[in-house]
Amino acid sequence: MTNILFDALFDPLREKSTPLLILQDGRIISGQAFYGMITQAAGALREMGVNPGDRVAVQVDKSPTALAIYGAVVAIGAVFLPLNPAYQAEEMDYFIGNSTPRVLICDPAKNGMLAPVADAHGAVLQTLAADGSGSFAQRMSGHSGGLTVVPRQGDDLAAILYTSGTTGRSKGAMLSHDNLLSNAQTLEQLWRFTDADVLLHALPVFHTHGLFVASNVALLAGAQMIYLPGFDAAQVVGLLPQATVMMGVPTFYTRLLALPNFDRALVAHMRLFVSGSAPLLAETHHAFEARTGQKILERYGMTETNMNTSNPYDGERRAGTVGFPLPGVALQVMQDGQAVGPGEVGVIEVRGPNVFQGYWQMPEKTREELRADGWFITGDLGMRDADGYVHIVGRAKDLIITGGYNVYPKEVEMLLDDVPGVLESAVIGLPHPDFGEAVFAVMVAQKGATLEPAAILDSLRPRLARFKQPKGLVVLDALPRNAMGKVQKAELRKTFARQFDT
Ligand code: AMP
Repeated sequence: MTNILFDALFDPLREKSTPLLILQDGRIISGQAFYGMITQAAGALREMGVNPGDRVAVQVDKSPTALAIYGAVVAIGAVFLPLNPAYQAEEMDYFIGNSTPRVLICDPAKNGMLAPVADAHGAVLQTLAADGSGSFAQRMSGHSGGLTVVPRQGDDLAAILYTSGTTGRSKGAMLSHDNLLSNAQTLEQLWRFTDADVLLHALPVFHTHGLFVASNVALLAGAQMIYLPGFDAAQVVGLLPQATVMMGVPTFYTRLLALPNFDRALVAHMRLFVSGSAPLLAETHHAFEARTGQKILERYGMTETNMNTSNPYDGERRAGTVGFPLPGVALQVMQDGQAVGPGEVGVIEVRGPNVFQGYWQMPEKTREELRADGWFITGDLGMRDADGYVHIVGRAKDLIITGGYNVYPKEVEMLLDDVPGVLESAVIGLPHPDFGEAVFAVMVAQKGATLEPAAILDSLRPRLARFKQPKGLVVLDALPRNAMGKVQKAELRKTFARQFDT
């Protein structure tokens, strides 16, 4: 009997004496040593009564042990449930109450905050620090024997990842062994990963990007990872000469471009830079190419589906687009229940082996977003251009309806971003007594630049239909973003909610 995800990702490490993880202090963890950590973590979890199908929740800082726990949970047929370390007591109470894990592993500093939460929902609380200490690490050290891998089939759950909940309560996306493995296999091939690769891994491992796209693909290919606790541009510049591939969110790339010593010679040996999780501005794509001679490959995915589209490895990587549907993934753009053709904006739907099994304990939400015939309604607005490249226009819920007219925020943001001195912008709809919603713009100035809201609004007049023109504009020091670099429009809507009150 087999455990399909474990066999593909982790079993090959058993005999591997070559490096798997290269840490920031220069320490190296070989494949074999990592397999040993998995064995210990699996033994500790079993001892605590974790059975196949049980959830294991993990709210810890990124560390090699955190990744080994993922391998251990998969090995024992349980369900891995990573949570953002930024979540506070009330949020954790919701996640733990909703998912009822057998075990919750947290940072020692959170022990006091989470003890009542674990108690209330019947979870055993354990601790693990980024340096590898804590009660769970102690338990692990008592288990050095062999690893008994529990058989698992394609449909069995491997993980639950909560959505970032930018438009409501977070939902637990149930991901099967097949969902994860099929996507990793597709990306490994498409992006030509091999065991000669060294992936610079500076993403968090509680999110689909760092955990599944980056780690699963590297593990499947037998590649090495330069495994960093977080993204520090200066440190990354120092380490890039050892890497062959980097995956990042757009902010990684803008921060690298801000460093004068990030140049063509530094990355001449790199074979691939991948970006995703938030839109990469065409301007960043072009600036990166001008500086390095390399074109960032942008792809699009989400918690519920892993990856859906990618720009080509060979062939044109088109700035401002997320490329083509992955092999085996079908994509359609829908308007009023009908699929529309090139150039028309609508809601993106996807279907394929990557699409999740539904939302944990939320059958109604599942029915609303996942059709019985397998199409998942992503909630993203997009269109395909005449050559088939997919463009993401924004979230359907961010669409502004003002006086009965639809405004796609991205169209206005693109014009604002072109204004000299503007670093970035976010356009939102705010309650308005007359129009229902009014277009409102938030902008951030480039370093040293001063923005004049009235002059900017004037400059938009000849370029946009009147109903699309912002009825207000403010300049902020920075846009609110989450850990993956996504602009938190819900937060902006809350902050400026009363802007047009009469
Ligand atoms: P998450 O579930 O946290 O991974 O967020 C998924 C959402 O991020 C998608 O539904 C998109 O709205 C957005 N997203 C991911 N990749 C891209 C991209 N390359 N361009 C634009 N938006 C993206």
